[in-house]
Amino acid sequence: MPEFRQDPVAGYWVAISRERSDRPIDFARAVHVSKSSAGCPFCPGNEGATPPELLRYLKEDGSGWRLRVIPNKYPALTTEQGGQHEVIVDSFLHASSFGELPVCAGRDLLSAAADRFRELKRDARFRYVQLFKNNGPGSGASLEHPHSQLMALRVVPIQVGIELEGALRYYDRDRACVFCDLIERAARAGRMVWEDEQVAVLAPQAPRFAFETWIMPRRHVSHFAASGAELLDAAGAALHRTLKRMEELLHQPPYNFLLHTAPLHNAASASYHWHIEILPRMSGIGGFEFGTGCYINTVSPEESAARLRVNP
Ligand SMILES: [Zn+2]
Ligand SMILES: [Zn+2]
Ligand SMILES: [Zn+2]
Repeated sequence: MPEFRQDPVAGYWVAISRERSDRPIDFARAVHVSKSSAGCPFCPGNEGATPPELLRYLKEDGSGWRLRVIPNKYPALTTEQGGQHEVIVDSFLHASSFGELPVCAGRDLLSAAADRFRELKRDARFRYVQLFKNNGPGSGASLEHPHSQLMALRVVPIQVGIELEGALRYYDRDRACVFCDLIERAARAGRMVWEDEQVAVLAPQAPRFAFETWIMPRRHVSHFAASGAELLDAAGAALHRTLKRMEELLHQPPYNFLLHTAPLHNAASASYHWHIEILPRMSGIGGFEFGTGCYINTVSPEESAARLRVNP
């Protein structure tokens, strides 16, 4: 019998149908064969193929760049339409997935994103910046070279509004941050994947996708860009480690990850807590999900955490 669980922040329902969870073959995918890096617009030497960069991190030895942020050449939203669409080229290395890059790529990615958040906040028209990554065929990615995206928006997206309201309701009732409580609950319920002093990596209570995993600062902080370098480093390393583990365990699944943070100009909040949601996309979103906003997941979060956990 499927078990229905509700996400305590956003309120969506998930049917956990464990019956199928002992069929890992369901998730095996054809191994993605890396394309040649020849002609790749994100590889070093081809900088002329992209618009002039907004930010670059140089290699320690000064022999070139290791990360670049550029305007998206084919923006989903232009400034006239109320947005700004940017691409973060995660690394100078051409790889078929993010997990194949060295761990410093995770640290650089979050550090560069925070730099851009602080810069974009200076434009008072922008209210929210969405950081996300589409990795692999079927995820929405169109180019192989590891890259992430930033979309600055003049509105607070509905999904973020729902979370902000849900977290505020919880705070008004329980005088606590729901996300801080979720970390405690995950530890008690055997859903912790990995943790250190700075961050917790956990399977959420009501995951929409098999092996869905969230990364959260252990200490309460509402705004991503207000995080110190130590936290950004730890979160970047945890992000890389988690994706690398997921890619190995699930055989290079397509996935998305996205950052949720308090809106740019909101005051520091006791109820909201920034986090990263990693969504493996081994099963598609179908008519039921689009029609109802409910999800069906064949792997319980307790099992996914146990399988993602790396033995020390
Ligand atoms: Zn490339
Ligand atoms: Zn919190
Ligand atoms: Zn969220």
